[in-house]
Amino acid sequence: MNGHSLGHDDINHAEIAEKADAILDKFGITEPVVDAVRIANGLGFKVKEITMPPRYFDVAGFYNNKDKTIYVQASDKPWRKLFTVAHEIGHNVLGHKNYEVLFRVQNKDQRYSEVEREANSFAASLLMPNWMLNRYLDAYGLTKKDYREMAKIFGVSEKAMEPILLYLK
Ligand SMILES: [Zn+2]
Repeated sequence: MNGHSLGHDDINHAEIAEKADAILDKFGITEPVVDAVRIANGLGFKVKEITMPPRYFDVAGFYNNKDKTIYVQASDKPWRKLFTVAHEIGHNVLGHKNYEVLFRVQNKDQRYSEVEREANSFAASLLMPNWMLNRYLDAYGLTKKDYREMAKIFGVSEKAMEPILLYLK
């Protein structure tokens, strides 16, 4: 789940960003940190933290359709939990079916499938929409190189923020 999954590929990021913007608009969210749990709840999902069994150590979260609950790894850092919830919202909003249930932390040898990359793109757009980034760069007198400060303001990882700022228009 990080910026490596974004960038140059065949995903329609602009269209996904429009869908994320529509959700932010619907919930009246104009400031970071975007409250993904409130959005999930508003869309009819519960969010619960659980401790994954050891052999699922690399699983950040998953969605269970039976109890309409997004489960996130309790021991993860707040920024990862936030991204995991946003990622699972993405699968729902983008109408994905039959996607990998378990959202795994990316490692170097692994390449995300298209639906996974779409859900990651949605999560990035939801948590770091361009218009909000530009507004905060202006407000704080920051530049696109200040991804560390911006990551703190937006409640995301520096690794997620860096490429987003790089490609920001
Ligand atoms: Zn996923």
